[in-house]
Amino acid sequence: MLSKSKIGDVNRNNQRLTEKTEYTGNDHNQRIWILECLEPRDGESCSYVYGANGSDFFQRKCPVCQGGRPGLPIPAAN
Ligand SMILES: [Zn+2]
Repeated sequence: MLSKSKIGDVNRNNQRLTEKTEYTGNDHNQRIWILECLEPRDGESCSYVYGANGSDFFQRKCPVCQGGRPGLPIPAAN
């Protein structure tokens, strides 16, 4: 079900799914997905980019402007 989410999807909190990585998150059986915040802030979008468990995507809030939990480290792209 959750795997239906695809790159470019935006959740109800205006967080966009930017990339699905193969790295393991910190929740059971989850991979790290990279999200970007699209919330307007000071006339521009917040644009904060962070990692999250795939299972959290649908309800994730931005750690910077929406008081969400801190993001997971974004795995270094090698
Ligand atoms: Zn934000």
